[in-house]
Amino acid sequence: MRPVWAEISLDRLIQNYHLLRDAGGDAGLIAVVKANAYGHGAPACADALVKAGATWLGVTSVEEAVTLHAVRSAARVLIMSGIWEEREAEAAIEERLTPVVWEPAHLEWLAAAAERRSLAAQPVAVHLEIDTGMSRQGVQLAELPGVLDQLESAKALSLEGVMTHFHSPELLNEDATKAQQAQFALALEMIAARGFRPNVIHAGNSATVFTSGGAPGISELAAKYGASAMLRPGLALYGYAPRFAGDGALAAAEALKPVLAWKTRVISLRTIEAGESAGYCATFHAQRSSHLALIPVGYADGLNRLLSNRGAVLVRGRRAPMVGRISMDLTIVDVTDVRGVELGDEVVLIGEQHNTAQSSGLRAQKAGVREQGSGNSETITAYELADVEGTIPYEVLCNISARVPRVNIALGEGDA
Ligand SMILES: *Cc1c(COP(=O)(O)O)cnc(C)c1O
Repeated sequence: MRPVWAEISLDRLIQNYHLLRDAGGDAGLIAVVKANAYGHGAPACADALVKAGATWLGVTSVEEAVTLHAVRSAARVLIMSGIWEEREAEAAIEERLTPVVWEPAHLEWLAAAAERRSLAAQPVAVHLEIDTGMSRQGVQLAELPGVLDQLESAKALSLEGVMTHFHSPELLNEDATKAQQAQFALALEMIAARGFRPNVIHAGNSATVFTSGGAPGISELAAKYGASAMLRPGLALYGYAPRFAGDGALAAAEALKPVLAWKTRVISLRTIEAGESAGYCATFHAQRSSHLALIPVGYADGLNRLLSNRGAVLVRGRRAPMVGRISMDLTIVDVTDVRGVELGDEVVLIGEQHNTAQSSGLRAQKAGVREQGSGNSETITAYELADVEGTIPYEVLCNISARVPRVNIALGEGDA
């Protein structure tokens, strides 16, 4: 097998989940596993999360939801980006999924599909999204009365949940989220005044779980209407704390641990002399006699080409810069300053590695273990790649392509 893989620590995923549960206080969690669990492999992650107690999972589409068939008897699945057509409404009902709705068309398709079932069938639960200021999805307050009329006449549908999404939850000490919560409170008041009694009220993401301006506000609103409150973390489940701006985020966020490690191996080595070049278009010229290692990973694996001549990897616990352009399937790294690099050495693109540069064989293994305690290891996070690329860790993780096998470190086998 081509030596490029992503190790997924399900133990860490579960630890992060427990940490989020504690941080969320009274509010429950909808564990967001959209986009193949942010590139981590949705079926295995969903399975681990449900075993750890998750009762709700959030995905983008019906197609994503059907990959989770193994856990669907134990957990509800929320389709967060609505539905596209009546056939999809049928599929959502057939598969017992819970669609988020806001367009009048969503309700028409679902009502039509729900009414075609037997009279004895349970009403189809839907969650109504309110646009409280993000202007992306959700019904705007001015349109809410019309949508509620529609819901009232659609007897085969039941309004189980009401939700909204915050646009700047990581900005602390700002009024943006407060203003959105106020709009959300108005919408809930209108919904209650029309006699609807939703069971669940949910909002927010990873950042909301860790901020005093987020979770308590949602819990309070839910309590007012006798509903349960839920928050919808995604990124933090996978071990990345939001980057908060301002004071007031819970320190607990720092204890999150990245779930994914992206690894490869050295497949070739060569020395080039000062003045010689490396890679397409010769964008790198050696300033000295340089030892170059080749790794079998490129932009087709999701290693962003913007990392060319700017990114780094870990070899023997040391940083080695990427040199020259990243190719489709290959990348060159400069290991001149890393002693003893050999064919087959493990290379870390995202993750931790202990420093074994000074020794080899059994000694290296022992040193690796000993040095773990003394902190003699290096780490590369998805944030580091994102900063170089000018993006966010979400995109770095989601872009690791399907060509990279996800290797699940089974429950109880992880480094914890
Ligand atoms: C993706 C998403 C989330 C999770 O966001 P994170 O920032 O990853 O925690 C929550 N709610 C909705 C509606 C989303 O689309």
